[in-house]
Amino acid sequence: MIREQVSEQEKIWINFEAVRQFFYCKRKIYFRYCAKFKGYKSYKMVKGTEYHNYKFKRKEKINEKKNFWVENEKLKVRGFIDYIIKTKDNETIIGDYKQKYPYKGKIPEQYKMQLVIEAVALQPKVNIKKVEIKLPKGKKIQEEIKEEEIKKVIKAIKEIRKIIKKEEIPEQTKIKSKCKDCECRNMCQPM
Ligand code: SF4
Repeated sequence: MIREQVSEQEKIWINFEAVRQFFYCKRKIYFRYCAKFKGYKSYKMVKGTEYHNYKFKRKEKINEKKNFWVENEKLKVRGFIDYIIKTKDNETIIGDYKQKYPYKGKIPEQYKMQLVIEAVALQPKVNIKKVEIKLPKGKKIQEEIKEEEIKKVIKAIKEIRKIIKKEEIPEQTKIKSKCKDCECRNMCQPM
């Protein structure tokens, strides 16, 4: 995997979750981290949190580590990781629990990128080349991590820092259906 140096003046800690928000809609970074807007929790978000808590309560398997905090000092990224598992082939996979499907067999970009930055943050201790999301009823989707995705997520981290530092409000997402469940909606699109 590629590791890119982050210059001294860029050192603001970025949470893994911010990467997910950035790939959902860049504008959310402004509301969450500049305007410090917590927003309301949508029904989906509440259900998602409940589902994660339920999953974390379940006993870990021998080859699994769940719900742990990671900080990467060099990249200044940190956050909780849902789980990592080691397969019989000695491969380590990083994953996230998701309650909702179908995802049409593909991990949505915002979830994939969060998992990619988590995998990058775990280097060099753990070498992870694959991510997965676990869905209800034992379903899961796995994908390889591509080099271009690592570059993309490192670039995104820089862009997130820039938005926070300059307090610049990015454009709204062009995918208007995303706004329906966005906790920043009332601030972003006042009635
Ligand atoms: S309401 Fe829409 S445009 Fe505004 S922050 Fe949320 S997703 Fe982005």
